[in-house]
Amino acid sequence: MVRIGVLALQGGVREHAEMLKSLGAEVALLRRFDDVDGLVIPGGESSTIDRLLRIFGQREAFAAALRDGLPVLGTCAGLITLATEIEDPAPGQEGLGVIPMRVRRNAFGRQVNSAVERIDTAYGTVEAAYIRAPEVLSVGDGVEVIATKGGRIVGVETRSALAVSFHPELTGDTTIHARFVEKVRVRN
Ligand code: GLN
Repeated sequence: MVRIGVLALQGGVREHAEMLKSLGAEVALLRRFDDVDGLVIPGGESSTIDRLLRIFGQREAFAAALRDGLPVLGTCAGLITLATEIEDPAPGQEGLGVIPMRVRRNAFGRQVNSAVERIDTAYGTVEAAYIRAPEVLSVGDGVEVIATKGGRIVGVETRSALAVSFHPELTGDTTIHARFVEKVRVRN
């Protein structure tokens, strides 16, 4: 059985935990770094997640493990957290530099414009919820685009990381999580 950590500082932690358990993974809710087989960084508010990682002195431990190839799934704020470059960061906010990409926060409008849509991904159609979702503006070497929405990049993948702008954990669609658990299993 693989043990997957969900970063539990802020945001939609419980929905990810339940989805991972339904796929047969053991789940650990992490406020501090721990030795896990994979990590999920949930949606929420990326600047708050960044600030809390710093306040609790955990930013470097997570960043080092992720740069070292720990498999990771980031959704929405989690995608922003994994980026090398944030176009419009909150004051002091920086990505962990795990996926070479430039992102723009809140690229699809305000909370009131939130929507559930079916979108095509490399792994099939996914029921996706968008809540103040980010857009990936450009990607660097080794990054594959796995989902687009109206021509704009909303999903990317590298050898170890998977990141999407939307919230698959809120619609009950397990496509993205199943792919992530498979990535974790292959590495183990
Ligand atoms: N707009 C948020 C941010 O900048 C992300 C929103 C979300 O995770 N649903 O972090």
